[in-house]
Amino acid sequence: MSRILVVEDEEGLSGAIREWLEDDYYVVTLANDGSVALDRLLTESYELVLLDLMLPGLNGIDVCKRFREAGGATPILMLTAKSTLSAKEAGLDSGADDYLTKPFDMRELSARVRALLRRPQTQPRIVLEVNDLKLDRNSRTVTKSGQIVRLQPKEFLLLEVMLERYGEVLSTDELIDHVWGADSDIAPETVRSHLKTLRKKIDDPPEPSVIRTVHGMGYKIEAD
Ligand code: CA
Repeated sequence: MSRILVVEDEEGLSGAIREWLEDDYYVVTLANDGSVALDRLLTESYELVLLDLMLPGLNGIDVCKRFREAGGATPILMLTAKSTLSAKEAGLDSGADDYLTKPFDMRELSARVRALLRRPQTQPRIVLEVNDLKLDRNSRTVTKSGQIVRLQPKEFLLLEVMLERYGEVLSTDELIDHVWGADSDIAPETVRSHLKTLRKKIDDPPEPSVIRTVHGMGYKIEAD
């Protein structure tokens, strides 16, 4: 999964970006202030940052500069208001990797996001599996005994993080951070209801679920 920090102070726009990217299976965290964003960047890990130029707190260029000065290497896509900017104004010489001028088409945003994320990093395992269940990260598909299982994006991400950390107990808070983003105010009941529908889709009752509940601690995936 790719975690994206979206730094944008126009609520309508940040909400629309979040919705669009979540539909594409990204995990989105929002920040609406430059200094909050810098704090998050220095303490949390993301694969990409969408960074608005004009922000309260600290402007986009300063966020970018300070993050790079602190050794941060995460790709940054700057969101700017004018289409007639020089590279300097667009923030490219402060360490941004690319920029997109507002208003933009969400499909254009997706294309830029994919291009920036395609840069070589340490390649995670492409196929994760347990028993007859396989999750393919490239094609975003899950199969059970070769049959496609249709999952909602959040169900897919829950399964992905638990498979990735096979055998390890993940707390509800950790699942929320990984799947909904560190800034979300998702209630634990939401996690439980997603796990319930996920189990319905991947389990074979009366066999026990591969998603084990560890009382008082969280959840883990384990084969028999
Ligand atoms: Ca702004």
